[in-house]
Amino acid sequence: MQGTVLYAPRDVRFEEREEPKIAQPTDAIIRLSATCICGSDLWPYRGVQAIAQPTPMGHEYCGIVEEVGREVRNIRPGQFVVGSFATSDNTCAICRDGYQSSCVHREFMTAAQASLLRVPLADGTLVATNDLPPEELIPSLLATSDVLGTGWFAADAANVKPGNTVVVVGDGAVGLLGALSARQMGAERIIVMSRHASRQKLAREFGATDIIAERGNDGVARIKELTNGIGADSVLECVGTQESMMQAIESTRPGGYVSYVGVPHNVSLDGEQLFYSHVHLHGGPAPVRRYLPELINLVLNGKINPGKVFDLTLPLNQVAEGYRAMDERRAIKTLLHPNGAR
Ligand SMILES: [Zn+2]
Ligand SMILES: [Zn+2]
Repeated sequence: MQGTVLYAPRDVRFEEREEPKIAQPTDAIIRLSATCICGSDLWPYRGVQAIAQPTPMGHEYCGIVEEVGREVRNIRPGQFVVGSFATSDNTCAICRDGYQSSCVHREFMTAAQASLLRVPLADGTLVATNDLPPEELIPSLLATSDVLGTGWFAADAANVKPGNTVVVVGDGAVGLLGALSARQMGAERIIVMSRHASRQKLAREFGATDIIAERGNDGVARIKELTNGIGADSVLECVGTQESMMQAIESTRPGGYVSYVGVPHNVSLDGEQLFYSHVHLHGGPAPVRRYLPELINLVLNGKINPGKVFDLTLPLNQVAEGYRAMDERRAIKTLLHPNGAR
Protein backbone atom coordinates (compact mmCIF):
# COMPACT_ATOMS: atom_id res chain seq x y z
CA MET A 1 0.00 0.00 0.00
CA GLN A 2 1.03 3.61 -0.35
CA GLY A 3 0.96 6.26 2.33
CA THR A 4 2.06 9.78 3.21
CA VAL A 5 5.33 10.45 5.04
CA LEU A 6 6.82 13.81 6.07
CA TYR A 7 10.61 13.66 5.81
CA ALA A 8 11.48 17.28 6.56
CA PRO A 9 9.80 20.69 6.33
CA ARG A 10 7.94 20.88 3.00
CA ASP A 11 9.16 17.39 2.00
CA VAL A 12 5.97 15.28 1.87
CA ARG A 13 6.24 11.96 0.02
CA PHE A 14 3.61 9.49 -1.06
CA GLU A 15 5.43 6.19 -1.03
CA GLU A 16 5.21 2.44 -0.64
CA ARG A 17 4.63 1.45 2.99
CA GLU A 18 3.97 -1.78 4.79
CA GLU A 19 0.26 -2.65 5.04
CA PRO A 20 -1.05 -2.22 8.58
CA LYS A 21 -1.88 -5.48 10.37
CA ILE A 22 -3.78 -6.34 13.54
CA ALA A 23 -1.13 -5.84 16.25
CA GLN A 24 -3.34 -5.99 19.37
CA PRO A 25 -6.51 -8.07 19.80
CA THR A 26 -8.45 -4.80 20.31
CA ASP A 27 -7.38 -3.33 16.92
CA ALA A 28 -9.36 -2.86 13.73
CA ILE A 29 -8.09 -2.32 10.19
CA ILE A 30 -10.17 0.02 8.07
CA ARG A 31 -10.10 0.80 4.35
CA LEU A 32 -10.43 4.56 4.11
CA SER A 33 -13.32 6.12 2.21
CA ALA A 34 -11.68 9.53 2.54
CA THR A 35 -9.01 11.29 4.58
CA CYS A 36 -7.73 14.85 4.74
CA ILE A 37 -5.05 17.29 5.78
CA CYS A 38 -5.37 19.06 9.12
CA GLY A 39 -4.35 22.61 10.00
CA SER A 40 -2.20 21.02 12.71
CA ASP A 41 -0.31 19.03 10.02
CA LEU A 42 1.00 22.40 8.82
CA TRP A 43 3.01 22.98 12.03
CA PRO A 44 5.54 20.19 11.25
CA TYR A 45 5.17 20.84 7.50
CA ARG A 46 6.34 24.41 8.04
CA GLY A 47 9.09 23.31 10.43
CA VAL A 48 7.50 25.17 13.37
CA GLN A 49 7.27 21.82 15.15
CA ALA A 50 10.39 19.70 14.68
CA ILE A 51 10.15 16.02 13.68
CA ALA A 52 12.84 13.57 14.80
CA GLN A 53 12.45 11.12 11.94
CA PRO A 54 10.35 10.56 8.80
CA THR A 55 6.78 10.65 10.12
CA PRO A 56 3.64 9.00 8.66
CA MET A 57 0.97 11.70 8.46
CA GLY A 58 -2.78 11.95 8.90
CA HIS A 59 -5.24 11.52 11.77
CA GLU A 60 -8.71 12.24 10.31
CA TYR A 61 -10.48 9.23 8.82
CA CYS A 62 -13.60 7.29 8.02
CA GLY A 63 -14.03 4.07 6.09
CA ILE A 64 -15.09 0.46 5.94
CA VAL A 65 -13.88 -2.07 8.50
CA GLU A 66 -11.77 -4.78 6.85
CA GLU A 67 -10.74 -6.85 9.83
CA VAL A 68 -10.95 -6.79 13.63
CA GLY A 69 -8.87 -8.36 16.40
CA ARG A 70 -10.28 -11.25 18.44
CA GLU A 71 -11.27 -9.09 21.44
CA VAL A 72 -13.27 -6.53 19.43
CA ARG A 73 -16.96 -6.89 20.32
CA ASN A 74 -18.96 -4.01 18.83
CA ILE A 75 -17.23 -3.23 15.56
CA ARG A 76 -17.58 -5.71 12.68
CA PRO A 77 -16.04 -6.08 9.20
CA GLY A 78 -18.17 -4.35 6.55
CA GLN A 79 -19.37 -1.53 8.81
CA PHE A 80 -18.79 2.13 7.96
CA VAL A 81 -16.99 3.80 10.86
CA VAL A 82 -15.69 7.19 11.95
CA GLY A 83 -13.10 7.61 14.68
CA SER A 84 -11.35 10.39 16.53
CA PHE A 85 -7.73 11.48 16.19
CA ALA A 86 -7.24 10.23 19.78
CA THR A 87 -7.93 6.60 20.63
CA SER A 88 -9.91 5.80 23.77
CA ASP A 89 -11.20 2.77 25.65
CA ASN A 90 -14.40 4.75 26.37
CA THR A 91 -14.69 2.95 29.72
CA CYS A 92 -12.18 4.56 32.12
CA ALA A 93 -13.25 7.29 34.54
CA ILE A 94 -11.91 10.05 32.28
CA CYS A 95 -13.78 8.69 29.25
CA ARG A 96 -16.98 8.30 31.24
CA ASP A 97 -16.68 11.96 32.20
CA GLY A 98 -16.48 12.84 28.48
CA TYR A 99 -12.76 13.53 28.09
CA GLN A 100 -11.88 10.60 25.82
CA SER A 101 -8.97 12.53 24.27
CA SER A 102 -7.24 12.21 27.67
CA CYS A 103 -8.18 8.53 28.13
CA VAL A 104 -5.70 6.62 30.30
CA HIS A 105 -5.10 4.42 27.21
CA ARG A 106 -4.98 7.24 24.69
CA GLU A 107 -2.77 7.14 21.64
CA PHE A 108 -2.73 9.88 19.02
CA MET A 109 -3.60 8.52 15.59
CA THR A 110 -1.15 8.83 12.73
CA ALA A 111 -0.67 7.38 9.23
CA ALA A 112 -4.28 8.03 8.13
CA GLN A 113 -3.25 9.68 4.85
CA ALA A 114 -3.10 6.20 3.29
CA SER A 115 -5.51 3.64 1.91
CA LEU A 116 -5.52 1.34 4.98
CA LEU A 117 -5.32 2.26 8.66
CA ARG A 118 -4.90 0.41 11.93
CA VAL A 119 -7.13 1.78 14.71
CA PRO A 120 -6.27 0.72 18.27
CA LEU A 121 -9.05 0.22 20.86
CA ALA A 122 -11.58 -0.17 18.07
CA ASP A 123 -14.60 -0.65 20.34
CA GLY A 124 -13.94 2.55 22.26
CA THR A 125 -12.56 4.69 19.45
CA LEU A 126 -14.84 3.98 16.48
CA VAL A 127 -18.50 4.77 15.93
CA ALA A 128 -20.33 2.71 13.27
CA THR A 129 -23.36 3.81 11.26
CA ASN A 130 -26.35 1.46 10.85
CA ASP A 131 -26.09 1.48 7.05
CA LEU A 132 -23.43 2.38 4.53
CA PRO A 133 -23.84 6.14 4.00
CA PRO A 134 -24.36 7.63 0.55
CA GLU A 135 -21.23 8.83 -1.21
CA GLU A 136 -22.24 12.51 -1.04
CA LEU A 137 -22.23 12.46 2.78
CA ILE A 138 -18.65 11.15 3.05
CA PRO A 139 -17.01 14.63 3.26
CA SER A 140 -19.33 15.69 6.09
CA LEU A 141 -18.86 12.40 7.93
CA LEU A 142 -15.10 12.75 7.56
CA ALA A 143 -15.39 16.26 9.02
CA THR A 144 -16.86 14.85 12.25
CA SER A 145 -13.59 12.94 12.83
CA ASP A 146 -11.72 16.05 13.92
CA VAL A 147 -12.42 19.43 12.40
CA LEU A 148 -16.13 19.56 13.24
CA GLY A 149 -15.65 17.67 16.50
CA THR A 150 -13.04 20.23 17.50
CA GLY A 151 -15.19 23.20 16.46
CA TRP A 152 -18.09 21.68 18.39
CA PHE A 153 -15.95 21.25 21.50
CA ALA A 154 -14.81 24.86 21.10
CA ALA A 155 -18.44 26.03 21.21
CA ASP A 156 -19.37 23.65 24.03
CA ALA A 157 -16.33 24.54 26.15
CA ALA A 158 -17.11 28.24 25.64
CA ASN A 159 -20.57 27.59 27.10
CA VAL A 160 -22.45 28.65 23.96
CA LYS A 161 -26.16 28.82 24.77
CA PRO A 162 -29.29 30.06 23.00
CA GLY A 163 -29.24 33.84 22.76
CA ASN A 164 -25.48 34.19 23.38
CA THR A 165 -23.11 36.53 21.63
CA VAL A 166 -20.18 34.47 20.38
CA VAL A 167 -16.82 35.48 18.92
CA VAL A 168 -14.70 33.09 16.85
CA VAL A 169 -11.00 33.93 16.67
CA GLY A 170 -9.50 32.21 13.61
CA ASP A 171 -11.01 31.60 10.17
CA GLY A 172 -9.36 28.23 9.55
CA ALA A 173 -11.52 25.15 9.09
CA VAL A 174 -11.96 24.65 12.86
CA GLY A 175 -13.00 28.27 13.41
CA LEU A 176 -15.50 28.11 10.56
CA LEU A 177 -17.03 24.95 11.98
CA GLY A 178 -16.97 26.58 15.42
CA ALA A 179 -19.34 29.13 13.89
CA LEU A 180 -21.54 26.33 12.52
CA SER A 181 -21.54 24.67 15.97
CA ALA A 182 -22.46 27.93 17.74
CA ARG A 183 -25.35 28.34 15.29
CA GLN A 184 -26.58 24.80 16.03
CA MET A 185 -26.38 25.53 19.77
CA GLY A 186 -28.61 28.56 19.30
CA ALA A 187 -26.23 31.51 19.55
CA GLU A 188 -27.92 34.74 18.49
CA ARG A 189 -24.93 36.70 17.33
CA ILE A 190 -21.80 35.05 15.89
CA ILE A 191 -18.87 37.33 15.13
CA VAL A 192 -16.07 35.74 13.11
CA MET A 193 -12.69 37.43 12.88
CA SER A 194 -11.46 36.97 9.31
CA ARG A 195 -9.78 38.95 6.58
CA HIS A 196 -10.10 36.46 3.70
CA ALA A 197 -13.05 36.84 1.33
CA SER A 198 -13.59 33.10 0.65
CA ARG A 199 -13.50 32.29 4.37
CA GLN A 200 -15.83 35.18 5.23
CA LYS A 201 -18.33 33.83 2.72
CA LEU A 202 -18.22 30.33 4.18
CA ALA A 203 -18.43 31.75 7.71
CA ARG A 204 -21.70 33.47 6.77
CA GLU A 205 -23.03 30.26 5.18
CA PHE A 206 -22.24 28.46 8.44
CA GLY A 207 -24.06 31.06 10.52
CA ALA A 208 -21.81 34.08 11.17
CA THR A 209 -23.83 37.27 11.61
CA ASP A 210 -20.87 39.68 11.69
CA ILE A 211 -17.35 39.61 10.28
CA ILE A 212 -14.48 41.63 11.71
CA ALA A 213 -11.28 42.06 9.71
CA GLU A 214 -9.30 43.90 12.41
CA ARG A 215 -6.86 42.02 14.62
CA GLY A 216 -5.06 42.55 17.92
CA ASN A 217 -6.10 45.64 19.91
CA ASP A 218 -8.15 46.97 16.99
CA GLY A 219 -10.02 43.68 16.80
CA VAL A 220 -10.74 43.77 20.53
CA ALA A 221 -11.96 47.37 20.23
CA ARG A 222 -14.38 46.36 17.44
CA ILE A 223 -15.77 43.49 19.55
CA LYS A 224 -16.32 45.89 22.45
CA GLU A 225 -18.16 48.28 20.12
CA LEU A 226 -20.49 45.46 19.09
CA THR A 227 -21.14 44.27 22.67
CA ASN A 228 -22.10 47.44 24.57
CA GLY A 229 -18.48 47.92 25.63
CA ILE A 230 -18.26 44.76 27.77
CA GLY A 231 -17.15 41.92 25.48
CA ALA A 232 -18.76 38.67 24.30
CA ASP A 233 -20.34 35.90 26.39
CA SER A 234 -18.38 33.14 24.63
CA VAL A 235 -15.14 33.32 22.67
CA LEU A 236 -13.69 30.41 20.69
CA GLU A 237 -9.91 30.61 20.21
CA CYS A 238 -9.14 28.42 17.19
CA VAL A 239 -5.56 29.37 16.26
CA GLY A 240 -3.02 28.77 19.05
CA THR A 241 -0.78 31.83 18.93
CA GLN A 242 -0.03 34.42 21.61
CA GLU A 243 -1.88 37.09 19.64
CA SER A 244 -5.00 34.99 19.09
CA MET A 245 -5.12 33.88 22.73
CA MET A 246 -4.83 37.44 24.04
CA GLN A 247 -7.39 38.62 21.51
CA ALA A 248 -9.77 35.93 22.79
CA ILE A 249 -9.32 36.70 26.49
CA GLU A 250 -9.60 40.46 25.99
CA SER A 251 -12.75 40.08 23.83
CA THR A 252 -14.61 38.19 26.59
CA ARG A 253 -16.82 39.91 29.14
CA PRO A 254 -16.07 39.37 32.83
CA GLY A 255 -17.80 36.11 33.78
CA GLY A 256 -17.71 34.95 30.16
CA TYR A 257 -16.05 31.87 28.68
CA VAL A 258 -12.98 31.37 26.51
CA SER A 259 -12.33 28.02 24.87
CA TYR A 260 -9.03 27.24 23.18
CA VAL A 261 -8.62 24.39 20.72
CA GLY A 262 -5.73 25.53 18.56
CA VAL A 263 -2.56 23.68 19.65
CA PRO A 264 -0.63 26.47 21.46
CA HIS A 265 2.73 27.43 20.05
CA ASN A 266 4.78 29.67 22.39
CA VAL A 267 1.72 30.95 24.23
CA SER A 268 2.23 32.24 27.77
CA LEU A 269 -0.37 33.92 29.95
CA ASP A 270 0.12 36.67 32.50
CA GLY A 271 -1.34 35.56 35.83
CA GLU A 272 -2.38 39.01 36.97
CA GLN A 273 -4.11 39.83 33.69
CA LEU A 274 -5.91 36.48 33.80
CA PHE A 275 -6.95 37.14 37.42
CA TYR A 276 -8.60 40.47 36.63
CA SER A 277 -10.11 39.30 33.32
CA HIS A 278 -12.53 37.17 35.32
CA VAL A 279 -13.02 34.71 32.43
CA HIS A 280 -13.57 30.95 32.45
CA LEU A 281 -10.87 29.23 30.44
CA HIS A 282 -11.31 25.71 29.07
CA GLY A 283 -9.72 23.91 26.14
CA GLY A 284 -7.33 21.21 25.05
CA PRO A 285 -7.36 18.39 22.50
CA ALA A 286 -11.06 18.05 21.69
CA PRO A 287 -12.78 14.95 23.12
CA VAL A 288 -14.30 14.29 19.70
CA ARG A 289 -15.43 10.78 20.66
CA ARG A 290 -17.92 12.31 23.13
CA TYR A 291 -19.71 14.13 20.31
CA LEU A 292 -19.34 11.63 17.43
CA PRO A 293 -22.72 9.85 17.74
CA GLU A 294 -24.60 13.18 17.86
CA LEU A 295 -22.59 14.77 15.05
CA ILE A 296 -22.88 11.71 12.79
CA ASN A 297 -26.67 11.80 13.29
CA LEU A 298 -26.86 15.51 12.46
CA VAL A 299 -25.02 14.78 9.20
CA LEU A 300 -27.07 11.69 8.30
CA ASN A 301 -30.29 13.63 8.97
CA GLY A 302 -29.19 16.47 6.72
CA LYS A 303 -29.20 19.05 9.54
CA ILE A 304 -25.64 20.22 8.95
CA ASN A 305 -23.22 20.14 6.02
CA PRO A 306 -19.75 20.58 7.53
CA GLY A 307 -18.18 18.92 4.46
CA LYS A 308 -18.43 22.31 2.73
CA VAL A 309 -15.24 23.20 4.56
CA PHE A 310 -13.31 21.05 2.04
CA ASP A 311 -12.71 23.43 -0.82
CA LEU A 312 -10.09 21.25 -2.51
CA THR A 313 -10.42 17.54 -3.32
CA LEU A 314 -7.48 15.56 -4.67
CA PRO A 315 -6.59 11.94 -5.26
CA LEU A 316 -4.45 10.76 -2.37
CA ASN A 317 -1.36 10.40 -4.56
CA GLN A 318 -1.38 14.21 -4.97
CA VAL A 319 -1.21 14.75 -1.21
CA ALA A 320 1.92 16.93 -1.52
CA GLU A 321 -0.04 19.44 -3.60
CA GLY A 322 -2.75 19.35 -0.92
CA TYR A 323 -0.21 20.46 1.69
CA ARG A 324 1.14 23.20 -0.59
CA ALA A 325 -2.34 24.56 -1.28
CA MET A 326 -3.14 24.79 2.43
CA ASP A 327 0.29 26.19 3.31
CA GLU A 328 -0.16 28.94 0.71
CA ARG A 329 -3.75 29.47 1.89
CA ARG A 330 -5.08 28.63 -1.58
CA ALA A 331 -7.25 26.01 0.14
CA ILE A 332 -9.05 26.04 3.49
CA LYS A 333 -8.91 22.25 3.82
CA THR A 334 -7.96 19.44 1.44
CA LEU A 335 -9.93 16.21 1.16
CA LEU A 336 -8.02 13.19 -0.18
CA HIS A 337 -9.60 10.28 -2.04
CA PRO A 338 -7.72 6.98 -1.66
CA ASN A 339 -9.64 5.53 -4.62
CA GLY A 340 -7.79 7.84 -6.94
CA ALA A 341 -4.46 6.69 -5.59
CA ARG A 342 -3.69 3.70 -7.74
ZN1 LIG B 1 -6.83 17.27 12.65
ZN1 LIG C 1 -10.63 5.91 28.73
